Amino acid sequence: MDLTDNDLERYSRQIVLQNIGFEGQEKIRGSFVTVVGVGGLGAPIAQQLAAMGVGKMRIVDRDVVELSNLHRQILYGPGDLGLPKAEVAVNKLRELNPDVEFEALTTSMNDDVADDAVRGSDLVLDGLDSIYARYALNRACLNQKIPYIFGSAIETIGSATSIIPENGTPCLECFQPDLRDEDLPKCGTEGVHPSVLTVVASAEVSEAIRILIGQPAILAGNLFYADISDLTFDKIKISKQDGCRACGSGADASRKYLPRKLVEDICGRENGKSVHVITPKENLKLSLDDLEVLVKNKGQLIRKRGELGLTFGHSDKISVSVVSSGVAIIVGAFTETKALEIYDDLIIKGLNIALERIDPNFIQVLASTGK
Ligand SMILES: [Zn+2]
Repeated sequence: MDLTDNDLERYSRQIVLQNIGFEGQEKIRGSFVTVVGVGGLGAPIAQQLAAMGVGKMRIVDRDVVELSNLHRQILYGPGDLGLPKAEVAVNKLRELNPDVEFEALTTSMNDDVADDAVRGSDLVLDGLDSIYARYALNRACLNQKIPYIFGSAIETIGSATSIIPENGTPCLECFQPDLRDEDLPKCGTEGVHPSVLTVVASAEVSEAIRILIGQPAILAGNLFYADISDLTFDKIKISKQDGCRACGSGADASRKYLPRKLVEDICGRENGKSVHVITPKENLKLSLDDLEVLVKNKGQLIRKRGELGLTFGHSDKISVSVVSSGVAIIVGAFTETKALEIYDDLIIKGLNIALERIDPNFIQVLASTGK
């Protein structure tokens, strides 16, 4: 893509770099990159890539901004609490660089939607916090032969690698097979140092730029490792496993890790409060205007209204966030039954959405949670 005079000045300090150059900048400008998860890792990743002038960016995140995010998720401030991260991120990034074309997706990452979430991208970067979601993403990228840059961080330790299907590099399941989210430490309980996030994010971005420009990926077959507690930085060789169930000769394309779950109980997310997430089968593309009217008619208080989501007080104790895809995050309901009843009343009956679009088994699931 041709660079304008404005581009040449804006990006002059990176164009002058030997390993980017004029042609490199043109390639960056012509690229389409997807960032999945704009939390602690995804926010600095997206910020750097937007500032560097990537042509098109898709930002995927189902969450809303919470107070406990702000110490590390640098795209958000106190005024954004309760708004969808994908929306706020895109608005902030657009301010940073209006020449980038942005797309915000408020869907949950799971096996059903992973393929759609990455489709068309030249490169996918990982800002997720769940191994199941990463497995789904890894497989979608293998299927579509899209380079996938894995990154993760917890406490003071982080790691990253580049998975390039065309080059036969080890994939995520080659070096981290058979992990379970249930067994892994969570930043909600273990904590995470913001500094390690920007280190890992920068490793991911530097790889992204190399790959987009057509240079060899340093982290293909290498795991970058950083521990900011003693400032150890290392690269560890990883190898492709022939028995890998995602990319080896015994690959099993039917294997699923993260089937969509109608209701998830995410404990420990908001300190001491129950959090339930309800994920409909398809992207409902809800009319938030209709939802806002409905909520107001019920006498409930809208706390935050954005283009792609709203948060309201269902009662003194229960707060509900609904994003445009139909995903709802219900804080303080305490039981799955109560969370599903709220969703039923609000979305299914209130907005008259067909049950099949949400979950054909909704009634049965609701009945079973009460037992
Ligand atoms: Zn593999």
